[in-house]
Amino acid sequence: MKIGIFGGTFDPVHNGHIGLAEDCVEQAGLDEVIMIPAYIQPFKQDRHTASGEDRFQMLALVASQNDRITVSRNELDNEGVSYTYLTMRRIQEMNPEARLYFICGTDSFLKVDTWMNAEELLEKYSFIVGCDRPGYRHDELEEAISRIRDHFGTEIIVVHNRQFDVSSTEVRDRIAAGKSVEGLIPEAVERYIKEHGLYRI
Ligand code: ATP
Repeated sequence: MKIGIFGGTFDPVHNGHIGLAEDCVEQAGLDEVIMIPAYIQPFKQDRHTASGEDRFQMLALVASQNDRITVSRNELDNEGVSYTYLTMRRIQEMNPEARLYFICGTDSFLKVDTWMNAEELLEKYSFIVGCDRPGYRHDELEEAISRIRDHFGTEIIVVHNRQFDVSSTEVRDRIAAGKSVEGLIPEAVERYIKEHGLYRI
């Protein structure tokens, strides 16, 4: 069993996240991707976000439309700063036979050395890096991958994910400015945001 673990703030989840999860299933042969909204993201501790429950519910809408995607409350239930190594330990304990693949975008992967207990993460788990834009930080990514492979022996898979040049920041800004977010997030997520009045100034 190969399980992808996709952590993030998901404030809100957008088509870039969903595309990456789907491409990981297809290209890395994952059985399932578990999307895990952070309670407090270590590198975004001073940022105000939509509530964990709202971010979870928007992911649940995505999971209900995709057989291979599930969503977990693991980090929300454990509160505190959501360190990836702790999440991975808990998920591995629940799935002792599974091989866990941590999924992240290029930007996140380039900072992996600075994560808490990076050594444990890189030695125990596999990584899938979404290489989002052609040529985007390509040399930097190649250099980081070979350095980490040499040092920790990490299995690192690069997935060439379909391009969705979108970030949660852009979605929030567009909603606050009353602009359309069509094509950037699923319709069900857009409806949820409207019904709950999220991201308005
Ligand atoms: P924000 O704009 O609020 O900082 P974000 O859009 O980067 O948010 P996160 O929830 O912080 O979203 O991202 C979770 C993970 O998804 C990270 O590993 C990030 O690199 C990856 N990711 C974000 N946007 C994309 C995208 N458009 N395509 C592929 N991966 C993405």
